[in-house]
Amino acid sequence: MCIELSEDPDNDVLIPDEGEADASTEELPFADGIEIAKIYLNQGVAIPVYENGDWVNGADRVADGIRDRAGLIRAFWSDAGDEERDITARLVLSGAVDHVYVSRKMVSGTSDVADPETTFNFTIAEDHLIPDVEMQIDLRETEESNDGADEASLWPEDGPGALEITDEIRTVKLTVVRVANPNCADGIPEIDDEEHWHKFHTTLYSWYPTNDFDVRIHDTILENAHTDWIPLLDGLISMRASDGEPENHHYFGYIDACANTFGSGTGSGGLAWPWSTVSGGIWWYEKHILWGQMYEYAWAIAAHEAGHSQGRRHFDACGAGGPFTPYPHADGELEPDNWGYGVVDGYLAATHKVYDKRFVDYMGYCDPQWTTLHTWNALWDGEVETFRSPFGDEDTMLIRVANQDGTVKWRAIPGYMTDERANSDERVRFVTKSGQTVEAPAYTDVLDNLSTYVAVRMPATLDKITEITYIPKPGDARANVAVDIAEVGRPAKPKN
Ligand SMILES: [Zn+2]
Repeated sequence: MCIELSEDPDNDVLIPDEGEADASTEELPFADGIEIAKIYLNQGVAIPVYENGDWVNGADRVADGIRDRAGLIRAFWSDAGDEERDITARLVLSGAVDHVYVSRKMVSGTSDVADPETTFNFTIAEDHLIPDVEMQIDLRETEESNDGADEASLWPEDGPGALEITDEIRTVKLTVVRVANPNCADGIPEIDDEEHWHKFHTTLYSWYPTNDFDVRIHDTILENAHTDWIPLLDGLISMRASDGEPENHHYFGYIDACANTFGSGTGSGGLAWPWSTVSGGIWWYEKHILWGQMYEYAWAIAAHEAGHSQGRRHFDACGAGGPFTPYPHADGELEPDNWGYGVVDGYLAATHKVYDKRFVDYMGYCDPQWTTLHTWNALWDGEVETFRSPFGDEDTMLIRVANQDGTVKWRAIPGYMTDERANSDERVRFVTKSGQTVEAPAYTDVLDNLSTYVAVRMPATLDKITEITYIPKPGDARANVAVDIAEVGRPAKPKN
């Protein structure tokens, strides 16, 4: 980790719910001499909807508004003068919703993104962020005795602006599996208590662009793994199949591995197989070594690993392995005009009070973490509800895991990857029982324990394949490797 963890939880900045307007605010005089410079909608990432004097239309926005998800509408003022004035801002929702929210502030100077006392903040209920809702903010003098302005003080000026909340639905489900490891003294990961459970849910839901997020805890399973991730991930694949869960459902196993980390060569706190639906984390390591503040590395493990499962790669940040996602900001730092809002707890992720630095994306290894627009939009656009190929439940992908100790393992696993996702010259050639020959392009990556990973889509299930050839250097047949099909592991079939 690149920075020390703080024990002081009081440095979190939360945006309180300021509530709704009572009817009397409608009678207040319009405010004079104050301008709103910018309005954001934020359901996790900051989306300007009004700037430079104009309403921003949906097609020009940095991300979509998501229906049935709570959010924050936040208005920034500029050049309000040195003298503090008591201003009441009213957010009037119209169209599909008829509701007025209020935010009252002592106004002077210019708004600061890191200080919610310098902005008008409207905490919007999830059933108010739906398609066809429109908004307009009016500013009033809180003191009725003030003369106020002759003209109405409205943003946008010409009438309500459409929030253009999308009607689309994205759901993600995550089952957290507690794994009891009889080899280790530390026992069953204790993630079912209020503190851990609530924090997991809050972190994951805050960062994933979903309307509907379902996280649950599975009954404890027994697993002897303590040197290798593969038995744990195999176990999760079998469990997932046995539970009959749909495509959008991820499994994340928490195991006590008897020591800080496990895996061959370099250890790690978590691991995922990209484009599969399972991943795991090390309970002992995270609890005893890394467990710190919310929105930092340890709490983010499940979001990070499930992010890999959905095809997200690392940012070049704090020792995370490449190849990296192309991204212009150092350490995966949030985009210059992006800041975070936690829809569950009101958390404000702007400049961090303790670290005095900007937040960085959870697909790197730095802290403190939030989601970039880059990751948010990639998950939203990636049709995250569809992880599997059309072939069915088994053997839709072949993966090769080359560990740092030189061992190589092949697995045929359920998972989803289209040929367009291939990023490597490497190929795997399959000959099927029907005599078909297919050369499948490969996706390659470096896993969190620095094993190298190759995934290809199989043309048929493993029992219908007679020959597999790994082609690490196309054009150089001497480098080809014949894969012994008997050595290709498969997760044990569920017994039901
Ligand atoms: Zn990773």
